[in-house]
Amino acid sequence: MAIRNIVKEGDEVLRKRSKEVKEINDKIRELFEDMKETLRKTGNGIGIAAPQVGILRRMIVIDLGEGPIEIINPVIIEQQGEQVEVEGCLSVPGVFGEVKRPAQMVVEYTNLDGEKVKVEATDLLARCLSHEIDHLDGILFIDKVIRYVDLNDEQEQE
Ligand code: ZN
Repeated sequence: MAIRNIVKEGDEVLRKRSKEVKEINDKIRELFEDMKETLRKTGNGIGIAAPQVGILRRMIVIDLGEGPIEIINPVIIEQQGEQVEVEGCLSVPGVFGEVKRPAQMVVEYTNLDGEKVKVEATDLLARCLSHEIDHLDGILFIDKVIRYVDLNDEQEQE
């Protein structure tokens, strides 16, 4: 396992579309281990997408405090309603703002065992999934900020 550098805003890798994972091999497993380690090391991160460590693959790790979930090739099946909350991003340190996200989402993805999983998400999980899936399409939360807020760096970041 290794801690990888988190790519910061301004690097064009964050603006590219990530490619689908076709085969779950050792390289993919190792990248997930590194992403988990890198996320853990941040202390306040709740999600990280592969492009944030410079790899353009459709892979996400989310950890809302109940252990990390590995997400491969996520697809939004359904989204409903809206929620507006303050968010931040590991790739845009020190910047926080209110962003409108779906209140509920149904997302289908592949897990590390190659199984298709369907998750019905609300609240923080829905917001985090929306934020991370945006990363896979080259979208940053600052593209969607309604209002910037002043917060310290203790705020959760994605
Ligand atoms: Zn982010």
